[in-house]
Amino acid sequence: MTEQTPIPKADILYIDDDPTNRTLVNRLLTNQQFKVWEAENGLAGLELAQTLHPALILMDINMPGLDGHETTTRLRSIPELAHIPVVAVTARTTPGERELALAAGCDGYIPKPINVDTFPDQISAYLHGKHDTISAEERQRYLSLYNQKLVSRLEEKIIALEEANTKLQNIDKIKSDFIILAAHELRTPITLIYGYARLLQLKAGALSEDGLPEGSVGDLSARIFNSVYRLNHTVNDILNISLIAADEMALTYEPVNLGDIIKAAYNDLNPAKNDRTLTVGYKGLDNLPPIIGDSQRLQQVFWNLLSNAIKYTPDGNSIVITGNIVDAPPAVPPPFYHAGNANFNGGIIISIKDSGIGISPADQPQIFEQFYTTANTAYHSSSKVAVGGGGIGLGLPIARGIVQAHHGQIWVESLAHNPHTLPGSTFFVFLPLGDKS
Ligand code: ADP
Repeated sequence: MTEQTPIPKADILYIDDDPTNRTLVNRLLTNQQFKVWEAENGLAGLELAQTLHPALILMDINMPGLDGHETTTRLRSIPELAHIPVVAVTARTTPGERELALAAGCDGYIPKPINVDTFPDQISAYLHGKHDTISAEERQRYLSLYNQKLVSRLEEKIIALEEANTKLQNIDKIKSDFIILAAHELRTPITLIYGYARLLQLKAGALSEDGLPEGSVGDLSARIFNSVYRLNHTVNDILNISLIAADEMALTYEPVNLGDIIKAAYNDLNPAKNDRTLTVGYKGLDNLPPIIGDSQRLQQVFWNLLSNAIKYTPDGNSIVITGNIVDAPPAVPPPFYHAGNANFNGGIIISIKDSGIGISPADQPQIFEQFYTTANTAYHSSSKVAVGGGGIGLGLPIARGIVQAHHGQIWVESLAHNPHTLPGSTFFVFLPLGDKS
């Protein structure tokens, strides 16, 4: 081979999953004034090649994930990388391997183990335009072999993905079953503690917490009662979201007066009792026709929405709840649209408009996802009515699960999040009145 001057500091990308090989090649070439960049697999190599635009790429062939042939074929399809010479450096030395590498798009082929004495010159030659060739006939033959190899690799990958997916689904089912079971088991003792704490309060003659001397039996039992009430709420939320996710939430259908359950939910939250000064306005709730649904579950939807409206609206402001009858399903904005009510015409839309901190458009689709909360968890308080109080991010996903189980829609409108200018948020719930057919 004729002596050739190495191109000074030419960037060489070496893609190989074996760190020992990478170290050896790096040392050999760095000594020769090349700059070597390493990637440990095909995908990482493709990414690095796109930022680096190296002068030459050395490609191991046997690699997990995308192998060297596939990575080379992919490189050839990226216009700004297609011209870079690719040299296969491989332990695959059986007859036909060289031709296969060239058919896949490589410009050269160096068998492993590499010869440390000649290797730098070999690289120099490829950098100076050396290009291995095969006859057109051979190329055709090996291309068709390569195609077959690709299809069988694709088949293997699909089978492996399907197996992994089945495994994940099984694990997910085991996890959901466990959560449902654990929550059920927790509910029994919680109900008992709840009942006994109430009894204790009764015995102490202290059902009203106001003015109870601190440390008295009445005061202590009231504290136990309040804590268990919150614990019960959290356990129920976890149980409900698991039932919704597993599509196992059972609904008891009966005629439901939405106006009544909304007012009951607000009264239960009773912000005034917690020294909150908010005004609530009801519009059009008194003459709504009954819908057929699960009254307890639907009350929970409005309880969750109202609890948020109260938590995120500072004192001195207002919440307005409006009911409207509509003849056709509403035009729900795309991120919130749920293709579940195609068979329904009209229904009732309830809107809950608060004058609180608002929700940024970027956060709006996410807040309906499990465990998503925009609040800083460092300031987390589990109060359902205190300003800024937070939950575990299950209120809206549960509300959405219940509304969708009723073939309804739920969505939000808010211009921005701003605790100073208070742009407010309006949550909408559409519940259908009857089947089209
Ligand atoms: P959490 O249990 O944390 O209240 P939710 O699912 O009910 O969970 O709400 C998720 C997040 O959506 C909240 O943490 C809050 O950031 C935001 N959010 C919900 N309702 C409102 C509202 N009315 N005003 C402002 N932000 C809200």
